[in-house]
Amino acid sequence: MNDLLLISLLTGLAGVLLGLLIASRRGPAADAPYALADMRMFRQVDKMILSNLSFEYVAQQIVDLIPAAHRILGVTLRTADERTGQLDVAAVSSNLNAPGDALGLHALVGSAIEPTAAQRSGSRTVQAVNQRQVEAGDSLSAFEAPTIKAATAGKIQAHLGIKAIVSYPVMVESQVVGALTFYFDRSTDSLSEHDHEIMQGITDEVGIAIENSRLTSQLEGINRQLAEANSHLKEVDALKDDFIAIASHQLRSPLTAIKGYLSMLNEGDFGKLQREQAAILGQLSHSTNEVINLINDMLSVSRINAQKFELAKTAIDLEELVHDVFLELGPLAQKKSLAFTLEAPAHPLGQLNLDPLRIRQVVINLIDNAIKYTDQGSVKVRLEQADGQIRFTVTDTGIGIPVDEHDQMFKKFYRASNARTVVVSGSGLGLYVAREIVEKHRGSMILESAQGKGSTVGFSIPFATAAVETTSATHKVAA
Ligand code: ADP
Repeated sequence: MNDLLLISLLTGLAGVLLGLLIASRRGPAADAPYALADMRMFRQVDKMILSNLSFEYVAQQIVDLIPAAHRILGVTLRTADERTGQLDVAAVSSNLNAPGDALGLHALVGSAIEPTAAQRSGSRTVQAVNQRQVEAGDSLSAFEAPTIKAATAGKIQAHLGIKAIVSYPVMVESQVVGALTFYFDRSTDSLSEHDHEIMQGITDEVGIAIENSRLTSQLEGINRQLAEANSHLKEVDALKDDFIAIASHQLRSPLTAIKGYLSMLNEGDFGKLQREQAAILGQLSHSTNEVINLINDMLSVSRINAQKFELAKTAIDLEELVHDVFLELGPLAQKKSLAFTLEAPAHPLGQLNLDPLRIRQVVINLIDNAIKYTDQGSVKVRLEQADGQIRFTVTDTGIGIPVDEHDQMFKKFYRASNARTVVVSGSGLGLYVAREIVEKHRGSMILESAQGKGSTVGFSIPFATAAVETTSATHKVAA
């Protein structure tokens, strides 16, 4: 005997054995023709449960699938309200509730049974729920009271040919979540163990469908709440940005005036100062500048958030701008006895098309940081043109930035772990704003640093994008 023949014989034998096994589990031979249809029905019910469709739709589809498969006339599905215990009719098999058919079960659709004791005790379906047990009988009225009156129930039962009614409580874990009432055109005595297995199987599946729908609606509820909270937060955030923008604007004007007068006093415009007076005025100027810089950063952040951060480019002399800031911050470096130097480009850069206020903000932030985070050694400011880029860098011998934190440095409010202990005050906004400004100029930030090894922080902007459209600028690109 060749292998193929042996395999097909064994397969045939296995099929026969399986058939016998199924038949023995099913009980009476009369049930046999329904096995395949039952399995098909279960598969379709499973598919419906797994779909993402609404519970109402899924419930109706399921109650319509059931009579198509088995010798069941139809079913009614009720769901129990989690809070009130009220039983609502969620779906009735369409073949039993045809609209216009005065003797159908359509009266049940959309109806509810209040959880009052009187009403509950009147219905065997409700009894099935309360007692958590299967109720079987032959009077439709006994199951559908009080929704359908006894006289009408009798007529409907005769019209639809209902001979047996069975109500199953639908359970999820140990909780009753509804009831499934089956209608048969045969007597209760004819209901086999197999019929009950099928009814229990369907009831279990319906339980899963109800649970799924509850979880989905809970999830939808949570999503809705999250969306509301999110939109509220956005509103509050926008209000906060508006507030910061207005407050900063109001603060900036008087501070600029104070800064102006302080500088005149410092320069002796109102008479020669004594050493102590000059020192105090120097300190005052420094503090005023710090507040102005912080306000500028805060204003920039609120504009960035509101997507209103625009550049006002004009032809400027970047060397001069850097030189001015270098002179302005000189006293700070001096106070810490740092070697403070400025290295100008080998060839003049000429006029460049940049936003002077914003670039000044970046230059101040970077030099100020270098001085702030360096206690001894040097701070070297360098402006150069190399490889088609304008490079501005500040190199210091300060605390440095841990390499594993480099990725975070340009995030809003981020301050490196070592900086937080050395300099307590600090907003963590300077580098964030600097990057926004530089990237708006189509440039990129430079960061080379390691903890305890000093830092080089700066930016580069392609010369071609910053060049002013003149013959001399074109000449410089070529050079
Ligand atoms: P702030 O200095 O106000 O904290 P910045 O945004 O200007 O905010 O800088 C962010 C962080 O980057 C600082 O807190 C510090 O950790 C680090 N940092 C910036 N420049 C330097 C530097 N030159 N040396 C060491 N750390 C620096």
